[in-house]
Order: sequence, then structure tokens, then C-alpha cells
Amino acid sequence: MTDRLYYHDSFLYDFDAEVRELTDTPRPALVLDRTAFYPTSGGQIFDTGWLSTASGAKLRVTEVADREDGKIVHYLEAPVKDLPPGTRVHGQIDATRRRDHMQQHSGQHVLSAAFVRLFNLPTVSFHMADDYCSIDLDAATLTKDQVESAERLANQIVLENRAVDIRFVTRDEAAQLGLRKLPPAERDQLRLIDIRDFDLTACGGTHVRQTGQIGCLLLRKTEKVRRGWRVEFVAGERAIATARRDFTTLTEAAGLFSAHIYDVPQQARKSLDEIKSLRRQREQSQEELAAAQAAALLAETPESNGRKLVVRTYTDRDLNFVKLLAQKLVRLSSNAVALLATTSPQPSLLAAQSAGQPYDMGTLMKELMARFGGRGGGSKDMAQGGVADPEKLAAALADAVRAIGAAETKP
Ligand SMILES: [Zn+2]
Repeated sequence: MTDRLYYHDSFLYDFDAEVRELTDTPRPALVLDRTAFYPTSGGQIFDTGWLSTASGAKLRVTEVADREDGKIVHYLEAPVKDLPPGTRVHGQIDATRRRDHMQQHSGQHVLSAAFVRLFNLPTVSFHMADDYCSIDLDAATLTKDQVESAERLANQIVLENRAVDIRFVTRDEAAQLGLRKLPPAERDQLRLIDIRDFDLTACGGTHVRQTGQIGCLLLRKTEKVRRGWRVEFVAGERAIATARRDFTTLTEAAGLFSAHIYDVPQQARKSLDEIKSLRRQREQSQEELAAAQAAALLAETPESNGRKLVVRTYTDRDLNFVKLLAQKLVRLSSNAVALLATTSPQPSLLAAQSAGQPYDMGTLMKELMARFGGRGGGSKDMAQGGVADPEKLAAALADAVRAIGAAETKP
């Protein structure tokens, strides 16, 4: 098994080791006799860094993983040669990344303990992503007040700068200690993380030495998940970066309203109400306009064979208005047939007739669309369709007029 140096010192960023294995399949990787690199486990993600040799080679470590045989595998960015077992290497961990992980992971211990102490809500899982972390609580409900109380207590513990100690105990000893979480029975020896007089739990991850090093904890989104409630959080420098990003976003939104950031919700609500009201006014105006236009069209269209055939193409009216116009035409008159087209925004055709008129607009539209490569259909009295371009629309409209005329002249 690889000797895990991080078990004893999470702040060890440099170390010397010996190569044990070098492999190229499935990707270049090294196994060492000892390492300070942390492999992904227990919710905490892996370290990255470099391995250098006496001959001057500097190898980039891009991922670190646990292997089933207890060895830690260091995946390398590029293949290497001439690195036989026994070669001495110097390891260097990306300290910024490790510090961030320690802040998040230690923050999680404090936060999980705060939810247990305040509300008896145990954490069932922990997830660390590149920009935020989350814990899943075994909880049926979770209120905003509970979240804020847990955040307050967790930050209090951070401020008190309590010691975070590592202890190794036997399984039997651990059973006497009342741990927050006891891992499944695998090993005889357990590694405990002890936040003085606040939390004691078994964990193999890397943690800060004092809670003050966590910096702060900021709780964000909560959501119901299958097994309970998920709480997203950020700690330390991530919390600062997240708060900065939130402020920038809010400032931009406030700028759009020429308002203070705290007035953004009120301004947004006001704008939405205005939009709703304007939409209602617009609908009403459209109704009135369509009714007036329909009346004018019917007045100027002469009757022929006992029917009024209205044919028009619009370039500045959308399909909704043209549809409204067709409805008004066939309702205001008992013998209207309307064939209306619009080119905006999509070339569309509308065919309608007053109730009781003899044509079948649905069938007519299907035939036209089949002929001009469009899609459409409808009922006997009202049908609509769309084609790809304005030329096809003009041809389809002309065909529709011809079809109505042909039916008209049938004996
Ligand atoms: Zn831990």
C-alpha cells in the first residue's frame, strides 16, 4: 500500500518518494512508495501538481486516484520513459488547489455538525465540484430559518478558531466515542477528525489545523432531492469569489433599472406587472383593430354567387393577427370566405369560411401544403399552414383562390 503522507499532515505540499510502477495503459501513470497527493475519495476531489526527477524532468500530475490494491495512482499529462522502479522523484502539490479543498472539506465537517446539533439532521452525502459543494441532509423538510441558523452556528465555530486534530483509534475505541459518522466495517484502525468540543467523525480527507483557516461559510441553494434536502455551500476564498460574482450580477441588474441593488426584486416585479398590463391592452387593441378592418373589408368586397371572397396578403401583420382578422370576417358576415396570407415572421396562409358555407378548408389546406412542401391543416371552417418562402406563399394563395373559383363554377 502507498504510504499516505497527507494522513498525518495536510499542509505537506513537498515530498520525496521512489517510483514503484510506471504504466502507459490506459494512460500514463505512476505509482510511488509514498505520496502527499490526495486521491478522489469521500467526496473530496484529487490534488494536482508536479513530479520532478534529478535529471530535470518535470511531470504534470493531472489526476490522482485510489486503486483497489490500496495503491495511489498519479496520472500524468504526457507519457514518460526512463523512469524505472527505484528512481527518486520530488513531488510538489498545487497548494492553492489543496488549500481550497481543505477549506471546503473542513467547512463541510463544521456545517454537517451544525445541522446535527441544531436540528438532528444527519448528512448522508457530500459532493465537491470545481465551483461549489453540497451536502445531502436526511430531512423531510428544511426551512429558510434552519438554513440560516446552521450557517450562523458554523461561522461562529469558524470564528472561534477551534483546533482540528487528527487521531487514530481502533474500531472498538471509536464505538465508545460517539462519532457523528462511523464508516462501514472495513479497517481495524480509524482516522478521526476532531474539531474541539464540536465534532468528531471518521474521515480520510485533508483538513485545516484550526477552524479559522476555513475563512467563512456561505450557504446558497437548497433543493428537495430523492433522499432528503440538498444544501449548496461555498467556503473560504470560494465564498469571497461567489459573493463577488453575486454582487457583480446584482449590480448589472440594478443598473438596468437605475435602482439600488436591494430594490432589484421590487423593480423587476413592477416591470413584470407593467408587461402584463401592456399585453392585455395590446390584445384588446388587436381585437378592436381586427374587428374594424374586417368590417371595412366586408364593406368593400362585392358579393359574387351569393358569397364575399376576401383575399389579402400582409407583410407587417403576424399570424395571430391574421387569424383574428379571419375570425372576425367569418363571424361578422354569414357568407364570407377569407383567404389571407402573411409573410411576417414566417410565410403563413389562412383559409376560413362563415359557418354553413360549403367548402372544406382543412382538406384544401392539406392539399396546398402537400403541393408546396409546407405543413398545415385544420377544420372544415378554419385552417392554417406554413411554407418555406414568400414565393411559395404567393403561389399557394393563387391556387387557393383558383380552387374556390373552380368549386364555385361547378354545376
Ligand atoms: Zn473530512
